[in-house]
Amino acid sequence: MITKILIANRGEIAARVIRTARKMGIATVAVYSEADAKALHVEMADEAVLIGPAPVSESYLKGEAILDAARRTGADAIHPGYGFLSENPDFVEKVEKAGLIFIGPSAKAIRAMGLKDAAKALMEKAKVPVVPGYHGEAQDLVVLAGKANEIGFPVLIKARAGGGGKGMRKVEAQADFAAALSSARREAKASFGDDRVLVEKYVTTPRHIEIQVFGDSHGNVVHLFERDCSAQRRHQKVIEEAPAPDMPDEMRAAMGAAAVQAAKAIHYAGAGTVEFIVDASEGLRPDRFWFMEMNTRLQVEHPVTELVTGLDLVEWQIRVAAGEALPMRQEDLAINGHAVEARIYAEDAGKGFLPAVGRLVHLRFPDGDIRVDAGVREGDEITPFYDPMIAKVIAHGKTRAEALGKLAGALGRTEIAGTVTNTAFLAKLCRDADFAAGRLDTGLIDRNLASLTTVAPAPDSIVALAALAASGMVAAGAADGDVARAIGPFEIWGTPRRRVVLEIDGEHRSFRIERCGADRWRVSGPGLESGLDLEAVRASGADWSFRADGITRRCRLAQSEPSVAVFHEGLTHLFGKPRGKRTDDKAAGGDQVVSAMPGVVKQVLAAQGQSVKSGDALVIMEAMKMEMTLAAPRDGVVAEVMVVVGAQVSDGVSLVTLQPEAEAA
Ligand code: ADP
Ligand code: ADP
Ligand code: MG
Repeated sequence: MITKILIANRGEIAARVIRTARKMGIATVAVYSEADAKALHVEMADEAVLIGPAPVSESYLKGEAILDAARRTGADAIHPGYGFLSENPDFVEKVEKAGLIFIGPSAKAIRAMGLKDAAKALMEKAKVPVVPGYHGEAQDLVVLAGKANEIGFPVLIKARAGGGGKGMRKVEAQADFAAALSSARREAKASFGDDRVLVEKYVTTPRHIEIQVFGDSHGNVVHLFERDCSAQRRHQKVIEEAPAPDMPDEMRAAMGAAAVQAAKAIHYAGAGTVEFIVDASEGLRPDRFWFMEMNTRLQVEHPVTELVTGLDLVEWQIRVAAGEALPMRQEDLAINGHAVEARIYAEDAGKGFLPAVGRLVHLRFPDGDIRVDAGVREGDEITPFYDPMIAKVIAHGKTRAEALGKLAGALGRTEIAGTVTNTAFLAKLCRDADFAAGRLDTGLIDRNLASLTTVAPAPDSIVALAALAASGMVAAGAADGDVARAIGPFEIWGTPRRRVVLEIDGEHRSFRIERCGADRWRVSGPGLESGLDLEAVRASGADWSFRADGITRRCRLAQSEPSVAVFHEGLTHLFGKPRGKRTDDKAAGGDQVVSAMPGVVKQVLAAQGQSVKSGDALVIMEAMKMEMTLAAPRDGVVAEVMVVVGAQVSDGVSLVTLQPEAEAA
């Protein structure tokens, strides 16, 4: 009997395990690093124990600290999640030595599959088809290059200790082999402390199709069908689905049987995934799949299997770990419909998928018939310490087309501000003609990268709305939906007008906003030279409705210190609000004096037409009990003063404009 589980992980998978434990009436213990003190998994668990500072080597990878937490809380089992210690056999042994249950396979089974070369040798013996190649002892260039020739190019060099696509190099021709080998080795050494490699035939038109297996301690093994994870970038999964598109029954049966055979060969108990590479150059054929590796843990993409089988894999893991027999036999298992999962990451698809960080100032996941496995809440921070995955969004439908449509729609309704994400890229991929038609292989994303990552510039009306919102002249009103007006002394100074600087595509652009009616504004600036008239129809919380060019548009808007985010027609438009300008900041519009923080204007020292020298104080503001002097960015002439004493201004608002240099001269 398991009564209390400690989850040796964080993020979405820790939250995921806690949900099932709770459902089963099992108490939970979270462990966390200093960076995660307020994290979701900590809040969800019945008890939580701090195990160390932020770096994983000092917290989530510290087996001793985790065992100590289990001892102190009286946990009787440890669930490792994925990553971290989940495939570390030494840790499993320590857990068992401490008299606790490890919710996962035996140390022996993990070891057998831990190194790709030994695993392949073992699978060959078990008569599981393996990718043709060399996985022997020799490691010198001459032997490996010779093997590559025998195998025939292209080949793939793989770190035997590899994972997460690291230490892997595709080599097209003999001439490139030596360089590829040394770079694969370098990466393998740095990532895994082991630079030994194997060489494989690079399968053409490759599809990654994996089989979910489950074993118990009574010798039973079943498979829960396949997942297709061919939508990849740099050998890493982007979108996963079950079942595999166009999978013939005969091939499914053959792959399932091979995976069960693999698991039986190592007396596997618990959840595992046998990954195969498939040559799809002539469609899916039962004799064209080969074993790549086995992941001896729960996989990130397990939810798609759960949605098509109706099962809870974490519940199965816990039952099997407690010594129960598998709850179902192979013949009782069936696939119902189709499921697709997309991984939302904090990363900039347009900039080579550069990982991003930031506070999730606004976070809204789609509701309705959609599963969202998230590890974060609004206000949480994506830090550089951990994997930047924000959530997994998973859709189920009767058909693949229905599931894909639902997923794309759900991604469009996902609202994230505070960091850049790959959400738009994922939605585009769902709608990509090849992908939607099921014509996928692991090269699909790279082939279509340009179209998948280009973002159309925000429409003028959205830019104008963002500028208006950033100006602080319209605030989201009370629940009645009234558009709140510009406040305070502005009203008595004739036409209220302000300038704001927005960062768009890395460029600072200055906009002028003028109030020209009760709920009407004119926004002008770069791209909006002749001015665009906006009429605010409704602004309530994040819900905005505005009219421009005779069209009323609805959107959602989230404003925070660093940015304005407009969610419109399934797209997220992010506009940066540049911080206070340094005197030398030419790029930021050398003629703008911008508030650096929200506050009240205490003194206005500048007057229109006045000549000023760089560094002269122009406006004094008070914010958070701090006084701040805004100085002239350069020598020049004051063109316009847009604030009066007592005015409330938000940050990033332009307060004083200097005449353009050419004009002043
Ligand atoms: P594969 O090893 O076949 O690529 P997955 O796609 O399931 O398997 O996961 C990739 C790896 O990335 C996992 O083994 C895990 O180590 C790591 N990983 C992914 N997301 C996270 C996360 N949120 N926290 C910790 N590790 C993660
Ligand atoms: P990792 O441990 O990093 O997950 P894998 O061996 O599972 O390493 O390979 C990762 C990915 O690399 C696969 O999903 C597949 O896209 C690609 N790949 C691996 N082996 C081959 C191969 N022999 N031919 C073509 N592609 C391959
Ligand atoms: Mg793999």
